[in-house]
Amino acid sequence: MIDVNKIREDFPILSRTVYGKPLVYLDNGATTQKPRCVVDAITDEYYSVNANVHRGVHFLSQKATELHEAARETVRRFINAESSNEIIFTRGTTESINLMAFSFGEAFLKEGDEVIVSTMEHHSNIVPWQMLGIRKGVKLRVIPINDAGELDMEEFGRMFNEKTRLVSVAHVSNVLGTINPVKEIIRTAHSHDVSVMIDGAQSIPHMPVDVRELDADFYVFSGHKIYGPTGIGVFYGKEKWLDRMPPYQGGGEMIQNVSFEKTTYNELPYKFEAGTPDYIGSNALAVALNYVSAIGMKEIEAYEHELTRYAMEKMQQIEDMRIFGTARDKGSVISFLVGNIHHLDMGTLLDRLGIAVRTGHHCAEPLMHRFGIEGTVRASFGFYNTKEEIDILVKGIERVRQMF
Ligand code: PLP
Repeated sequence: MIDVNKIREDFPILSRTVYGKPLVYLDNGATTQKPRCVVDAITDEYYSVNANVHRGVHFLSQKATELHEAARETVRRFINAESSNEIIFTRGTTESINLMAFSFGEAFLKEGDEVIVSTMEHHSNIVPWQMLGIRKGVKLRVIPINDAGELDMEEFGRMFNEKTRLVSVAHVSNVLGTINPVKEIIRTAHSHDVSVMIDGAQSIPHMPVDVRELDADFYVFSGHKIYGPTGIGVFYGKEKWLDRMPPYQGGGEMIQNVSFEKTTYNELPYKFEAGTPDYIGSNALAVALNYVSAIGMKEIEAYEHELTRYAMEKMQQIEDMRIFGTARDKGSVISFLVGNIHHLDMGTLLDRLGIAVRTGHHCAEPLMHRFGIEGTVRASFGFYNTKEEIDILVKGIERVRQMF
């Protein structure tokens, strides 16, 4: 069982006030707050270890390299990858997907080939594929969704043909909260000999993830959404694919030998990590992963499930409430509109009550078009949120509704 009061003590920012009101932070889908141990890991390493990794014979460089490579192993263990060669550090989900579109695109895609995404994708899992489409003539196919915000799995099954090369879908929608049946998606795609990339930005902080159990070919996520620092993320790929994919960026670290005539590339995972890596960030990410592991991803999942159930029940009782995303399998994200109140007005007025929510299209404009709206208000929970905070949110929404 999660002791939420004790956990909240680990997050200094949660006890601050905003406009004289206690902060109610419900914007965890955008980024999560950081426990003290993560911030300490950053300052401690800068103060006592800092040196560039991999290239130094001196003590500090070796120490920093050890921390960086230990972090890679921590990530490997966290998602149960087979080898740490399969763990590439990036800046985040967005860079990981761009790496994927460029490198997988170079290796395996040609004009007329098709990539399947879904209606509920974040722009970062749409635009890199469109850019590849412009470069190489690759086409996007889109899995439709129903009104509850669930993928049309029958239609998905019918979308495969001899041109299909890749399926790239979100594990959990950042707007609807839908938890997609990724295991079934992967099984179906593999039965057609098609690889699958999972955008884990909104799943990795909320549930146990085992890439081997899922049999995902690629899995990507951001450190800052799982209580780690900004600027660090992960690109996981099965070694059999990574071996055949070209580097994404050129520079230091990713080479074996360079001459003006010819360059040979470094082995995995360094082939994909050009330049000085964010070794401070990787270590702090490992600290974050160890922190959530100590609490228990299963416990986090169960706690947040109950929190979301409670919030859905309370929010559905509000007059004129429209909730977008009522899937049977739903994560801790609630997008809504109340009557004709503009999402920006709702967000701004809630902010004055100390409640931080996100408003707008949430980088998912095609999904907004699907529902015929411009944007929503989004409350998204982490394991440090409480039922009392949900009560404050519900009261806040009621108050705003009565003002209009
Ligand atoms: N994919 C999903 C589903 C997201 O929710 C987000 C961020 O909100 C991203 C990708 C992009 O993540 P980042 O901005 O950390 O690269």
